[in-house]
Amino acid sequence: MGRLFLISLEGKIYSCKHCQAHLAVSDDIVSKAFHCKHGRAYLFNKAVNVTVGIKEERLMITGMHTVSDIFCVGCGSIVGWKYDAAHEKAQKYKEGKIVLERFKLTGPDGSRYWVTHDAHMGGSDADDA
Ligand SMILES: [Zn+2]
Repeated sequence: MGRLFLISLEGKIYSCKHCQAHLAVSDDIVSKAFHCKHGRAYLFNKAVNVTVGIKEERLMITGMHTVSDIFCVGCGSIVGWKYDAAHEKAQKYKEGKIVLERFKLTGPDGSRYWVTHDAHMGGSDADDA
């Protein structure tokens, strides 16, 4: 591992709650209506300071998707997942986009989001409702 060069964002920034690496800005939020197994998750157009893991097929609420876990480059923790492909036509808009799990993030106003227990889905799930 060499020295890490983290990209700095400007605006309303969502950052990694562990290491404060900038991950995404609120302008890039596509939807806040996503869920992960720990509660809320947001869909972003793009994210920075993340690396993408191995692609796998995952069954979401809205059907089968090819996704990869994404990791914060600052601390290595999983912060969400990326949609590589959606099998359902209606879900194609997600392709190439990034879901960040809200409880892994520090919000633009420094807020934290704590895990709630209203998440009843078993796995990591996405919902475009
Ligand atoms: Zn981090």
